[in-house]
Amino acid sequence: MLPPDVLNELQNRIESGRRIDYKSARSLLTEARLEQLGMLADLARRRRVGDKVYFISNYHLYYTNICVWRCGFCAFSRNSSSPEAYTKTIAEVAAELDNLPPEISEIRITGGVNPALGLSYYVNLVSLVREKLPQVHIEAFAPTEIDFIARKSGRPADMILINLKEAGLDSLTSGGAEIFNSALRKKLCSRKSSVQRWIKVTKLSHHLGIPSNASILFGHQETYEDWLDHLFALRELQDETNGFNSFVPLALLPSGARLASSRRVAFTEVLKMIAISRIVLDNFKYIKSLWLYYGSNGIKQALNFGSNDLAGTANEKHRGVARSAGSGSPAYLGREELVSIIKDCRRLPVERGRLYQEKHVYH
Ligand code: SF4
Repeated sequence: MLPPDVLNELQNRIESGRRIDYKSARSLLTEARLEQLGMLADLARRRRVGDKVYFISNYHLYYTNICVWRCGFCAFSRNSSSPEAYTKTIAEVAAELDNLPPEISEIRITGGVNPALGLSYYVNLVSLVREKLPQVHIEAFAPTEIDFIARKSGRPADMILINLKEAGLDSLTSGGAEIFNSALRKKLCSRKSSVQRWIKVTKLSHHLGIPSNASILFGHQETYEDWLDHLFALRELQDETNGFNSFVPLALLPSGARLASSRRVAFTEVLKMIAISRIVLDNFKYIKSLWLYYGSNGIKQALNFGSNDLAGTANEKHRGVARSAGSGSPAYLGREELVSIIKDCRRLPVERGRLYQEKHVYH
């Protein structure tokens, strides 16, 4: 438990907009009671971003589950020889888009790292979505996917980003960050692009005017120092580029995953992660909690620990990453349910459109 004078000092620091340093952040994780941490995160949230909670009507488009990286925690990917392997043709994606409800504001495109696909496939995919749904926000591909496409095509990553931006790409997904500790990253996903390459592509995208999102994968073998190293590196990067939209903490969901030593993370650890993210990442406006991972009761608690973004209604045709990895949540949560969850927490629901433009505020 933090002594009252230390708690008061941290409270004053957050109220006056001064930064929390590494040492204080560490003591919050190792010494503070969960309710003390939650109180400070909620204060930081109120002071920095107010009472609005954002969500978007969106659709997850998984174009392939074939992946040569086969990360140890991933239950979504398949080898190309698997009977469950798929890669959608552009015509199949077109038919899928034809069946979407009209209220969709965002298409999130992601998939495995599939060497059979060339640059033209990715460009055609984005062009197709832009052509069929000119008003939607297209959030697509992780920096690691961009790195793979660049290396495979023998072109620089900035050229790939420019091609995709011209085709209609609006922002990059939060994927591929996993954990910045290189030794742990090697254990979890030895084939995936390095942290240095993730950062390089992220910086390139921000300089080209393509915002992105960041994440952390936790609940495996990492320490609190690994959490903090990751968060402080992101804070520094955001200071430099101001190109991140949101931060997404992702707890490892081991059911169905292949990593032998994985364990189901306690929900108190999830709340700690959300809270410390809100406190340390003072230059990120949106801290996301994915109901697809935590369920409706979990996100109500997350909203009291610093979160202000519930991502989207997430309507997906094929099983996506969270559900493949054992999340027991449904594939779709409607607008009314999200609004009701947010109102239960005495917060103001806001349905957003492209880049957090407010489409509807539910007073
Ligand atoms: S997490 Fe992504 S990169 Fe890793 S195996 Fe799964 S689909 Fe491939």
